[in-house]
Amino acid sequence: RPNQPSLDYFWMPFTANRQFKAAPRLLSGAKGMYYTDIDGNTVLDGTSGLWCVNAGHGRTQIVEAVARQLSELDFAPTFQMGHPIVFQFAEKLAAIAPGGKDGGLDRVFFTGSGSESVDTALKIAIAYQRAIGQGTRTRVIGREKGYHGVGFGGISVGGLVNNRRVFPQIPADHMRHTLDMERNAFSRGLPAHGIELAEDLERLVALHGAETIAAVIVEPMAGSAGVILPPKGYLERLRAIADKHGILLIFDEVITGFGRLGTPFATDYFGVMPDLVTTAKGLTNGAIPMGAVFASRKVHDGLMTGPESQIELFHGYTYSGHPVACAAGLATLGIYAEEGLLTRGAELANYWQEALHSLKGLPHVADIRNLGLVGAIELRSRDGAPGARAYDVFVECFRKGLLIRVTGDIIALSPPLIIEKEQIGTLVSMIADTLKTTA
Ligand code: PMP
Repeated sequence: RPNQPSLDYFWMPFTANRQFKAAPRLLSGAKGMYYTDIDGNTVLDGTSGLWCVNAGHGRTQIVEAVARQLSELDFAPTFQMGHPIVFQFAEKLAAIAPGGKDGGLDRVFFTGSGSESVDTALKIAIAYQRAIGQGTRTRVIGREKGYHGVGFGGISVGGLVNNRRVFPQIPADHMRHTLDMERNAFSRGLPAHGIELAEDLERLVALHGAETIAAVIVEPMAGSAGVILPPKGYLERLRAIADKHGILLIFDEVITGFGRLGTPFATDYFGVMPDLVTTAKGLTNGAIPMGAVFASRKVHDGLMTGPESQIELFHGYTYSGHPVACAAGLATLGIYAEEGLLTRGAELANYWQEALHSLKGLPHVADIRNLGLVGAIELRSRDGAPGARAYDVFVECFRKGLLIRVTGDIIALSPPLIIEKEQIGTLVSMIADTLKTTA
């Protein structure tokens, strides 16, 4: 392959994979719903890159906005000074923020990624408690199978043990996982345990004392664990328990933010209002790395003017509110609004559901779940090799011209929100063909 670079110098865990080394998948271009690889093959994007390219690839408005911003003001420090575009972008975001501008989570803090958004939200929660005179509240409760990025904050409260297995020094005292999401995924027809399982938070409050707990963090829909949906009433109950004990509720919407569920945020879908929301990915359509934390007025004002607020929260990144990222984000919001993409998932949800569920009964399919424009096809493990079959399906789908994501035995799907019905049909039939020929 004349275009193939050396594979020795960039490393991630996957680059050690023998199969990848033998036949590397190298993407070289992208437009709309499709990638192209270095051999010129076209690949339908079934994952929005990595849950982020919600408006499709190579959008002209974003390309132009980024180019313009780069030539006008490539970088400006946001310590002790600002630039107009960062305030403009924050105001536009406030308008679609959970709960809306003037009353909702309309205070925006910019970061460079989802992991940074999580770290920021955890620090804001603890600092807020301190500012209002609750300095003993330093514990944060996370959830079984929760994924909150790979920063030290995120793995401390994360519930996917692989992410922290080799870091025994992570402050275990600050992570207490509340419930087994697997057990109550309602799509599997299991009893609606939601409300009872939220009571687990009460158990933890009794165990540790409310006066030690700053916040509880959950993904409203567990993405990386394999698209596990919350049971009815569960998030509402968490909200009520948190309120009762003065605990902040953080929703990690890095995946669900910006239209993935057919509403702007999962808070809109479930009708539950947290105190803080973490985002990234779809914020800039994946074009420029950026994250944002949305905070309620209560949290923002408490932090800034609470009785103990004289200890400043010294926190901020070199790239907080990066002007080029803001330009990409503003252009992205423009596309979302013009094309109605933040609610397009709701229009397509039934079609998407029917298409996915047509795979029922095919070889190896154990379960199918969907919500908005998210889907999961859970396969039965091949004997003694968990995840191996799904990985084979991933490799074969890519060879056929479809990008999917697999984690363990689960195929996760999250196509760009611009997908057409016909492309949903193509995507599903490529998976069906692959399943039929997979051992
Ligand atoms: N939180 C959630 C819910 C995520 O899904 C992810 C990434 N998939 C992150 C945080 C971390 O984001 P990043 O990879 O941008 O750091």
